[in-house]
Amino acid sequence: AASDSAEASQPAVEFRNIDIAYGKFVAVRDFSLSIRKGSFVTLLGPSGCGKTTILRSIAGLVDISGGQIMIDGRRVDDVPIYKRNIGLVFQSYALFPHKTVFDNVAFGLKYRNVPKPEIVRRVGKALEMVRLPGSEKKLPSQLSGGQQQRIALARAIVFEPQVLLLDEPLSALDANMREEMRVEIKKIQKETGITAIFVTHDQEEALSMSDRIVVMNAGSAEQIGTPEEVYERPATAFVADFLGKANMLAGTVSGSGKATAVVLASGQTVNVACPRQLADGSKVTVVVRPQKLTVGAAAGANHLSGRVVSASYLGGSAIYEIDIGGKTSIRANATITGRVLREGETIDLGFDPEGCVLLDEDGQRIS
Ligand code: ATP
Repeated sequence: AASDSAEASQPAVEFRNIDIAYGKFVAVRDFSLSIRKGSFVTLLGPSGCGKTTILRSIAGLVDISGGQIMIDGRRVDDVPIYKRNIGLVFQSYALFPHKTVFDNVAFGLKYRNVPKPEIVRRVGKALEMVRLPGSEKKLPSQLSGGQQQRIALARAIVFEPQVLLLDEPLSALDANMREEMRVEIKKIQKETGITAIFVTHDQEEALSMSDRIVVMNAGSAEQIGTPEEVYERPATAFVADFLGKANMLAGTVSGSGKATAVVLASGQTVNVACPRQLADGSKVTVVVRPQKLTVGAAAGANHLSGRVVSASYLGGSAIYEIDIGGKTSIRANATITGRVLREGETIDLGFDPEGCVLLDEDGQRIS
């Protein structure tokens, strides 16, 4: 029984302090991550932060220069690509253009010497799963971009790999198709119970699809957590800014009390919930999400007054750029109750002390 539970809790994939270098350039530095079986984990970060490099290292497409990669508890750094049981989906669908859908999807099974009747059955099942049943005889050129990406997905899951790797699979699709495929990939992942590792620089994709998000910056993990954790409680200034472009208000702690009073650059004072006492005069940054601000008849404990610099109507809500005291610009994403505010109007902003996060001088969350 003891070994059963050890088996159940065994991570599907584990990175132990891996380094990856291209020549002298270190693309990934001391990266560690443990991925639970059956979970959907996203590597999120700006271009060049090392997401693709990490994904490729699982498949054996790039070599690591330090650390270890484990799949189902077994070290794989020396296992060649063809012996790793991994499904891959890329941004470019990478289908064989002159082969039928059947031959494209069957590829991994033929390669693994699966008997023909079993291949036919499993290809049929995979095509049903991606909602393209009966498309076996078509050529990729007869399919739309979204359909081709579904075939690529069918090809990756048909041999029931231990891990499914998805490298920006939606970025070549148009906006509507992208949203549809988000839901569908997630559904297939849940149904099959496959462990999926997804790479994207699109925060909405990451927030809507993932069990856990790894926010990457310059070859390292800045924060690992659930979508809610990384969005609501960003650990660093980088995460707060990259995910949802939070307002970052520089200020100075004034006095000391239970709620921390912070004097902003504009001279206005706000109160922020803080679990520990900060020294008078400490430099801090108050992080407030645009959605946490109320505009107009200001609710919330904190009030700021400002002037509307720009207003973008989104239907139901609007994004306002608001100037506070000529020193600070704040973005507010507000539900429209009356009319849309106009440029130049003077308004009140409100937010609660609990609705924000405090960062120290080094951009680290104070908690
Ligand atoms: P993107 O979203 O742009 O694909 P990424 O986060 O996936 O970015 P990687 O492709 O992993 O980033 O690249 C990480 C860093 O390694 C980048 O600075 C990139 O220029 C560099 N790099 C990637 N591949 C190579 C290579 N074959 N040779 C040299 N440098 C490389």
